[in-house]
Amino acid sequence: MKTEFILTAAQAVNDAILAHEPEIESLDREIGDGDHFVNMKRGCATILGMHDELAPLSADATLQKIGMKLLSTIGGASGPLIASFFMAMAKAEKEQQADALPQIAAAFAAGVEAIKMRGKADVGEKTMLDVLIPVARKFTEMANAGAAPAEVFAALKETAEQGMLSTRDMIATKGRAAFLGERAIGHIDPGAKTSQVIIHTICDLAS
Ligand code: ADP
Ligand code: MG
Ligand code: MG
Repeated sequence: MKTEFILTAAQAVNDAILAHEPEIESLDREIGDGDHFVNMKRGCATILGMHDELAPLSADATLQKIGMKLLSTIGGASGPLIASFFMAMAKAEKEQQADALPQIAAAFAAGVEAIKMRGKADVGEKTMLDVLIPVARKFTEMANAGAAPAEVFAALKETAEQGMLSTRDMIATKGRAAFLGERAIGHIDPGAKTSQVIIHTICDLAS
């Protein structure tokens, strides 16, 4: 992975999150406490604000610094989860620095695994993991099979979209939406939506 790609991706993700403000806002107002957009916006601004400090660093040091910083800036349920994603990615990147797709997929999967452990959640609980887990699986499977990058990124966008939509008919068993019981049915999970937007953006950038 290259630090330059991480920083370019951070800018693109920031722009994409801002462009989806009304949708993200309303999703967390419907089944959460309405702050998910603000939390994500703050996280993006924090990373962009670190640009000059991060630019000379290796990719693993960059990911680690971002993770540590996000831990104290995003807040909410999503803050520690996203921070643990970056720190696990940093560890994987440090262990096997490589630009090939299978290693990038492995690092991404390690990040998603860290979210699972930290949040004690899995697929089917109406969270960001309904997007991230299927995407990590698909990414690993296709990268290891030697699929062409363009094919992989198109498939990941599709998988993320399906995962995001799958949360609509779920009852939440984790996070604030769990208090709503059946009233959460019919609403897409805000964290699943932002995850899908982020994956879509990074796949477009990479392909
Ligand atoms: P908060 O719920 O504290 O206000 P946010 O609004 O920023 O925090 O984030 C809410 C999102 O976090 C949810 O939409 C969901 O996707 C995700 N989330 C909440 N709890 C968990 C968990 N235990 N595991 C994974 N994701 C979770
Ligand atoms: Mg919230
Ligand atoms: Mg909150």
